[in-house]
Amino acid sequence: MKIILLGAPFSGKGTLARNIVNDFDVVQISTGDLFRENIKNQTEIGLLAKSYMDKGNLVPDEVTVSMLKERISKPDCKNGFILDGFPRTIPQAEALKTITDVDAVILLDVPLDEIKRRCVGRRTCSKCGEIYNTSTYDKSTCAKCGSPLFQRDDDNLETITARLEVYEKTTAPLINFYADKLFAVKGMGTPEETYKQAKDFLRRL
Ligand code: AMP
Repeated sequence: MKIILLGAPFSGKGTLARNIVNDFDVVQISTGDLFRENIKNQTEIGLLAKSYMDKGNLVPDEVTVSMLKERISKPDCKNGFILDGFPRTIPQAEALKTITDVDAVILLDVPLDEIKRRCVGRRTCSKCGEIYNTSTYDKSTCAKCGSPLFQRDDDNLETITARLEVYEKTTAPLINFYADKLFAVKGMGTPEETYKQAKDFLRRL
């Protein structure tokens, strides 16, 4: 199964993708994670990506598409994948069409007020990637693996505002682009409630 996950920053794409991976035979591909991995390893892509990410801007399509193309050509993607954070522009979606077909597009729908509330509280596990929010989890270590939690460099108010603007202007038009394949999930409730909607939809495919 090949799935695209659309949604604003902080809508909960990462958490939903991780739940889907647990039950369906797909791998999670997060272009944000791939860029962060490149930054950590100080690669050429990482250096370039950082200059955009630090400002809350999108990394150029050409770089992003070629990185994604290489990733989905790997053997672990053979049975399917869930794209978390790609495509984010119409040209990326057009490029994806020439690389692979997709079975479903899930839109994670969360009102802007709730997104703003979640922004500054997000914490991520440094080892297993589990995502928390300080409003519901006040510990500094991961409940699953015990590793320290950290706040992403780009999770600060200044960058967040830019990222939300970029989403509205550049990524939200993909909702129309994928209108014929789109399934909207309400992302206001608990992660379990959100996942249940997506799971029921995917099981019907
Ligand atoms: P994310 O982890 O999905 O929130 O992505 C973090 C940052 O990585 C974004 O704000 C962008 O700067 C960059 N990024 C991730 N995915 C893409 C993409 N598909 N196109 C361009 N930039 C991206």
